Amino acid sequence: MAIAPARPDVLVIGGGLHGCSTALHLARRGIKALVIEKDHAGRHASGVNAGGVRRLGRAFPEVPLSVAAMALWHAIGDLVDDDCGFESHGQVKVAESAADLAVLAARVAKLNDLGFTHEELIGADELRRLLPAVAPHCVGGIVSRADGAALPYRTVLAFRNAAIRAGARFLEGAPAGPPVRAGGLWRVPVGDQVHEAPVLVNAAGAWADRIAAALGEPVPLEVIAPMLMITARMPAFVTPVVGATARPLSFKQFANGTVLIGGGHRGVAERDRNATALDFAKLAFNARTAAEIFPIMAGAQIMRAWAGIEARMPDDLPVIGPSIASEAAYHAFGFSAHGFQLGPIVGAILADLIATGTSALPIAPFSIARFAQAAAKAG
Ligand SMILES: Cc1cc2nc3c(=O)[nH]c(=O)nc-3n(C[C@H](O)[C@H](O)[C@H](O)COP(=O)(O)OP(=O)(O)OC[C@H]3O[C@@H](n4cnc5c(N)ncnc54)[C@H](O)[C@@H]3O)c2cc1C
Repeated sequence: MAIAPARPDVLVIGGGLHGCSTALHLARRGIKALVIEKDHAGRHASGVNAGGVRRLGRAFPEVPLSVAAMALWHAIGDLVDDDCGFESHGQVKVAESAADLAVLAARVAKLNDLGFTHEELIGADELRRLLPAVAPHCVGGIVSRADGAALPYRTVLAFRNAAIRAGARFLEGAPAGPPVRAGGLWRVPVGDQVHEAPVLVNAAGAWADRIAAALGEPVPLEVIAPMLMITARMPAFVTPVVGATARPLSFKQFANGTVLIGGGHRGVAERDRNATALDFAKLAFNARTAAEIFPIMAGAQIMRAWAGIEARMPDDLPVIGPSIASEAAYHAFGFSAHGFQLGPIVGAILADLIATGTSALPIAPFSIARFAQAAAKAG
């Protein structure tokens, strides 16, 4: 007779980076999670993103979390026993005009006032030293020298496997139905089975609004499909990850010479079919922007393009923290196309909240309560 596995302490819905990281940090505290994933870990945004590991240009409320996450990235092998392909070649945001440079200067001044010094304003000479192939019209920028990039799918698998080694369990190919609270337990149906645990975590990415609604707190989550494309191999011409200031662009060259181009242009997402459709006009615009900032890109050959399904909140900030409508439930979703870098720290925050009821990091701006307040004001 098979012995049923012991009841988990926490049910985590969603096996993206945030669900995997939560399971790992819980396990390191001796708290056993069951991660329920409808497809396979890393199938969605966490496995197909640009791999940008950046503090550069973050919304100010996110900066303390991003700085704490970066410390974990620089020792990522200690956490998951895999380097996740993380390389720290810096991230640069290019100013294409004096007006861009003024915006960046104001940003750095505000960050400095808040006590953060990782972003530096640079002029044309330092910009050309960092990016020798940048176009002549670019006048300067900002750099965060210890930022970098990692390999997304490898990262999710590293977190998943480390969580399993530490005692977490994963159910993949297992769509979770609406959670119900009864008798001090969360009950989550999966097919003809029901999984139970005292605590629930909603890390369901672009589907997380459905879990939130079942918990009694609907949220205005938008399902988006950010697109990326990759070129054939080119001569080495850029080392840091590069973005622009006044138009969407994110850009990096891999060691094999291929160049990844993105920056937020969106296709169309159909989350019920796990499907996305590309918008080729926007991809062409994105490629032209890359060539305007790096003229060598005019000769690039695009080999492949894709999009991922991601959750965006109206204020572009994630939801991190306890439910305000249901007991013993927590959220980590809505990362609005910049949640990969935050993955390692968000799992630690959730584990702290579940184990101790508090987090040492300032998470108040990410409370789900902000949407209830907005709805009350509107009503
Ligand atoms: C193209 C693209 C480029 C990006 N580039 C960057 C970047 O360079 N840097 C950066 O920091 N961020 C980037 N991002 C954003 C980043 O990828 C996401 O913010 C982050 O991965 C979100 O992780 P997650 O765990 O919340 O969601 P996901 O990875 O989407 O995981 C959620 C999981 O929940 C599962 N799920 C949902 N509902 C259920 C259910 N009912 N039952 C079971 N399972 C369920 C889904 O199948 C999914 O696997 C990018 C995103 C995209 C799409």
